[in-house]
Amino acid sequence: MKQKTNRTTYIATISGGKDSVTMCDLLLKHGHRVDYIVFNDTLDEFEEMYTYLDKVEAYFKRKYNKEITRLKPSKRYDAYIFNIKKSGDNIGLVSGLPNPSQGFCEWRGYAKRDPLAKFTKQFDNYRVYMGITTSEPHRANREDEKFIYPLIDTFRMSEEDCQQYLISNDMENPLYRHFNRTGCRKCHYQSDRDYFNIWKHYPSVWDEFKSYESKVNALPNAIGKHWFKNYRSCSDMEKEFIASDTQGSLFDFSDEPLKDCFCKV
Ligand code: SF4
Repeated sequence: MKQKTNRTTYIATISGGKDSVTMCDLLLKHGHRVDYIVFNDTLDEFEEMYTYLDKVEAYFKRKYNKEITRLKPSKRYDAYIFNIKKSGDNIGLVSGLPNPSQGFCEWRGYAKRDPLAKFTKQFDNYRVYMGITTSEPHRANREDEKFIYPLIDTFRMSEEDCQQYLISNDMENPLYRHFNRTGCRKCHYQSDRDYFNIWKHYPSVWDEFKSYESKVNALPNAIGKHWFKNYRSCSDMEKEFIASDTQGSLFDFSDEPLKDCFCKV
């Protein structure tokens, strides 16, 4: 039900990444209005992310009496992957793994955009604080006035500034030991280096990748062939990772993600 009020509701999104955590802390610390801190839980995050968010929430509660509201998608990753198409050209076929060559992440729509849109429907007037830094001003959507970018417009913080801010406050997400970005555990837009780090440091997650890939490809009604990475199977990648791990600098994996991955919302 809509909250009928002339008052504007201020919502801060937190992804668990360095930028959004810094943004929330700075907003609260400097007395900016924050009615809700919202985390879009895809239900498919790294375990470390959940532990970290509990720690951040405990700190926000202690220091500012603020909780984190956790939004959830209407369907889980499995339901999305193994969904049988009921309309369109591919009716009766299984959706399968998200296509890494697609320009946008369809899963983000289900897992993040839709739950946030549903949550904000209850408010007549609202604004959303987004944790985009001065390092990536092109990601700020200035055409939609619902979005506010305090790290750019108020605090003037770059990604490096945010990282240093959290390190100096002993609040850095442990996932940054292995990744430059944070996001869904099975993100299909990751860089080669991120895949390598998952293979090396998160073997159970890598096993999940292999299992999903082989399950989907074994289905007679899957649409085409499926990979987590464009045209490279997990076993193709694994061969390179093993060689790299044993021969060191012979292989230097790119750290460029395919898209806006890991995403920031
Ligand atoms: S982290 Fe990757 S898979 Fe997850 S929603 Fe963002 S782009 Fe999509």
